[in-house]
Amino acid sequence: MSRHLAYQRLFAATHELRVGAEFSRFTPDTPSCACCNRRWSEVEAPFQAAEYRYGKSGEPEQVCLTCYTPRIPSERLLGLERYNHTGNTTTPIYGKLGMLVGSGGIITPRNELYLTLPPKLHAKYKKGEWGQQGRLSTDKPLARLLDLLIAGALSAPGERPLEQGFVYIENWGRKADILMRRLLATTSLKEVWCNSEQGVTPLDLQAILETAQVLKTLELTNQADRLVFWKPITDAARGQRDDAAFDAWLGKVPDPRALLMALPTDPFDRLRLPAVLREVMPRLSALEAYLTPAPPQTQRQGSLF
Ligand SMILES: [Zn+2]
Repeated sequence: MSRHLAYQRLFAATHELRVGAEFSRFTPDTPSCACCNRRWSEVEAPFQAAEYRYGKSGEPEQVCLTCYTPRIPSERLLGLERYNHTGNTTTPIYGKLGMLVGSGGIITPRNELYLTLPPKLHAKYKKGEWGQQGRLSTDKPLARLLDLLIAGALSAPGERPLEQGFVYIENWGRKADILMRRLLATTSLKEVWCNSEQGVTPLDLQAILETAQVLKTLELTNQADRLVFWKPITDAARGQRDDAAFDAWLGKVPDPRALLMALPTDPFDRLRLPAVLREVMPRLSALEAYLTPAPPQTQRQGSLF
């Protein structure tokens, strides 16, 4: 996968943000974008830069138009964020992607942007063009991701699922510089890249889907999102393994081996089990196409040796 894919998707999905936006573009005199570090010949708008300062006293930096985009306010697409009062002047501040605290987003292979917002932000921005186009919701980002996956919006017809890549933003937050420094697209559920203002981390959603399937078979569906059920596993993932609690857990689960085999291997993924399963379980039957079929029940004599 090209390291540019996520940037290309974001750039294409936000074209309207840059139309008529008031900021000056110039030919840069540095070797690469100060944010994503890509060479000026490689970025989506080659050899075009915008100036950005971090805070009032920050040094001006030359960033590519893709990295600049989350900093562009839009009255038309989002709407009024708040009024800024200084002395006798009141200035309207409009919403921007790089100021969506606690909000997520998905960019599909057709370069369509969907935003998930907390209710307060949703109420502010629902009348904007993106709101009117049905691009905003108050879902959790992962719930929106799963619903788009189920609706077929993350793979193109005739292509292998997810091959073309989508972008998953877990939290736009307010640190666009960290978000844009390394933006990654996802082409497999085994490695869903969760982009956020804290950087990018992988999530093995495939293993969590398999885990969900085992939980359903073992009739443990109602335990799936319970922190207390997973405690021996999540404690161990934090390096605080409690052997007695783990043994008790093994006694409680009807087929612990099947469940342990299905679990994601990465401790960070294991810590996220309750939260991710909360969204996965109610959608499990609709996600069947993404589950690995059960291996045939044939005897494999001698396979241990
Ligand atoms: Zn850049």
